[in-house]
Amino acid sequence: MNAILKNFIAGEWVDGSGVTRNINPSNTNDVVGEYAKADRAQTEKAIAAAKAAFPAWSRSTPQERYDALNKISAEILSRKEELGRLLAREEGKTLPEGIGEVARAGQIFAFFAGEALRLTGEKGASVRPGLDVEITREAVGVVGMITPWNFPIAIPAWKIAPALCYGNTVVFKPAELVPGSAHALSEIIARSGLPAGVFNLVVGSGSVVGQTLLEHPDVAAISFTGSVGTGRKIAQACVLSNPMKKFQLEMGGKNPLVVLDDADVKVAVEAAANGAYFSTGQRCTASSRLIVTEGIHDTFVAALTERLKGLVVDDAVKQGTHIGPVVDANQLEQDQRYLKIGQDEGAKLAWGGELLNRETPGFYMQPALFTEATNNMRIAREEIFGPVACVIRAKNYDEALAISNDTEFGLAAGVCTTSLKYASHFKRNSEAGMVMVNLPTAGVDYHVPFGGRKGSSYGAREQGSYAREVYTTVKTAYTFPV
Ligand code: ADP
Repeated sequence: MNAILKNFIAGEWVDGSGVTRNINPSNTNDVVGEYAKADRAQTEKAIAAAKAAFPAWSRSTPQERYDALNKISAEILSRKEELGRLLAREEGKTLPEGIGEVARAGQIFAFFAGEALRLTGEKGASVRPGLDVEITREAVGVVGMITPWNFPIAIPAWKIAPALCYGNTVVFKPAELVPGSAHALSEIIARSGLPAGVFNLVVGSGSVVGQTLLEHPDVAAISFTGSVGTGRKIAQACVLSNPMKKFQLEMGGKNPLVVLDDADVKVAVEAAANGAYFSTGQRCTASSRLIVTEGIHDTFVAALTERLKGLVVDDAVKQGTHIGPVVDANQLEQDQRYLKIGQDEGAKLAWGGELLNRETPGFYMQPALFTEATNNMRIAREEIFGPVACVIRAKNYDEALAISNDTEFGLAAGVCTTSLKYASHFKRNSEAGMVMVNLPTAGVDYHVPFGGRKGSSYGAREQGSYAREVYTTVKTAYTFPV
């Protein structure tokens, strides 16, 4: 076994006070690595280091920030195959998906390298004679990042890159299931020339490391992606902390993909298969509700079932695999539980759901499709976060739109149609933060805002230049030039 990989605090790689084992979900005999777990005291050290580094980093020049972010981007992109393999091995998405995610992380750092050069302020006229008014943006301070396991490098990248770009310092707590990509990313960041303390990695649990970040008065802001339940706790903790923290939350989804009678069936089936099942359905933007109008319903279900039959579920890094394993035993148990819940509620399990045996022991599950679901069933209301989707029949477009909006979530929504009228109406009337036409609900660009409404998100949008709303605070300065 290789050495235990360390945390990065105040510019040093340090041992932890426990160990977390990173298990390959495609082969549970394969230990990807062992990682030092930080405790409360170490997390406090990381926060102190980030606080100490903040004054200088927040005054660093755009050139210094550009150079560091650009260097990080270049190394990530040049190692995307290797890092993509590590990601696929620890998380279970396929190798092409893993490499794609790593490339995206590299592009995000490149984007924010450029953004560092583009931060400008405004100068306005005062309503009082002789005064100057300036509006500028400043860094927020120490930002705590709490990230989930399903995008082990892209989500950290889309939080860390803008945080550094705008002059904040960072304490990064990755999800315990995926410390490998977090560690590899941190090594790259550590080599980028940032001053000690600007970036810190603390691997550990939500209840210890996460909680310390939430309670600590020197953490000025929290950026979180994860479940709704945890998001709610984080929001409460940020408000109760003294001083209150700025926070931004990205949480779940129960994303509708509407398929209308006039849809191109091939396009609709591709959008549904990709949106619902790729990345093993473990995306907050997954198309988990397929809302299909009467005229195309049976044709669509038959074609989608055929498509699912052709999907290869196997080891994530094996060539030819379309769907990797579920991330771990808990998630698999949850997916299986929902299969039973759906059937008990009266939905028909039209395809899949079986546990599968492959060459190596792993969490393999046949993608599952429910039909005859109604929107009040738990399988249509609760986020399952696995390769499970349900088809809900709708009489017509109006009913399909109403069903699509009848959810406590509002992250992404899609419509498959060849009609400009319906596409335009859906874009305007969907209550989701991101709307797709003839595309899966999952799969977005990295240079434009990402986020949702209702129970899916809280606070400003992430990604693209909109991320500055999260990672900067506005200052209004008045001058009376005497
Ligand atoms: P997921 O289902 O994606 O694991 P969670 O919301 O449970 O979603 O976890 C997302 C992140 O939040 C992880 O890094 C996890 O360790 C962290 N986390 C979980 N519970 C807490 C908590 N009470 N306080 C702070 N962080 C937490």
